[in-house]
Amino acid sequence: MISSLYIHIPFCDRICNYCDFCKVLKGTFSEELYIKALIKEIDSLNIKKNSLKTIYIGGGTPTALSDNLFKELLSYLNKRFYHPKEFTVEANPESLTKKKVSLMLRYGVNRVSLGVQSSNDERLRFLGRNHQAKDVIKAVGLLRKNMLLNYNLDFIYGVPGMQKSDVVKDVNFAIMLKPTHLSFYSLQIEDGTVFKNNKIEAESDLKMSETYNLIRGLLSKRGYHRYEVSNFALKGYESIHNLNYWHDGMYYAAGVSASGYMGNIRYTNTRSIYNYCKGINHQIINKIEPKDEEFEFLMLNLRLQKGFKLTDFYSRFNKNFLTSYKDQIAKVKDDVLIDSKSFKIKPNKIYIMDAILLDLLK
Ligand code: SF4
Repeated sequence: MISSLYIHIPFCDRICNYCDFCKVLKGTFSEELYIKALIKEIDSLNIKKNSLKTIYIGGGTPTALSDNLFKELLSYLNKRFYHPKEFTVEANPESLTKKKVSLMLRYGVNRVSLGVQSSNDERLRFLGRNHQAKDVIKAVGLLRKNMLLNYNLDFIYGVPGMQKSDVVKDVNFAIMLKPTHLSFYSLQIEDGTVFKNNKIEAESDLKMSETYNLIRGLLSKRGYHRYEVSNFALKGYESIHNLNYWHDGMYYAAGVSASGYMGNIRYTNTRSIYNYCKGINHQIINKIEPKDEEFEFLMLNLRLQKGFKLTDFYSRFNKNFLTSYKDQIAKVKDDVLIDSKSFKIKPNKIYIMDAILLDLLK
């Protein structure tokens, strides 16, 4: 049974210089029309009442919605799917208000993911963010005051000019805010972004991997264990919703550009908010062939610190991984850890994961 739902809210108060997500500048399109179309789509998914274990509202910026529409969406979800085990809403520090927090609490949200990105105001300006470090402290204070204590903070590293001391400052800032979960993503320069147009260049892979190892070491000393390439958590606070993705589990998705996975089909909704709201949703449908299914299973599960259980591979594909992949495993034996129960990439080899996967799938 599918027990996770992702919902995309595309509105943002400002467009960040590095962002290639599907987003719309707030005020340029009707939020009312969007929420109406979104609720219609969720209804059409025919999800059994109260059957969801996780809901994740991402974006865009969900907290950029007006209070009324934020309330309309949360109360609808609360009525349909009463208190899922994990109910996350992404928020930006400048739009996480007292009113938004009280609505989250009223309608069963029990986890918040806050886009922090940096502790340095100059770097935040460079990234095109709409907040300063003091807004982050205020937003976290609001969450803590209201006992919404399960929150993730997102950071970006590898910003040009960032020194080792800046990375240490970000990590210390993050820890000072007492999150249960932290995500550190490397800055990627994607097509169509302001950075790409301005010919900003990403840091070298070597520098990125050094920074990554520094972050990993600092966080591990403070009790945040890496359970996925970019994700760290206190014990017991790993994201259930995201773990389902990495375990190659199925999930519903709703909203413009949202991607879902059911049976052997991955679907992606239209990226046009105009068409979406008119009910014209030309989805991209990808049927996953058996060989691709194995590739996706390996690609996703090997992002996890724990890798995958050999019995899980067997029950999914009805074959023994160690014997079926014997020749390929021989090629990557120095980069992986194998025991009688599981298969995983060595922690210090995560940065060459793509090469390991290529060898495994040849
Ligand atoms: S707030 Fe998030 S989704 Fe919106 S533009 Fe910035 S990075 Fe993109």
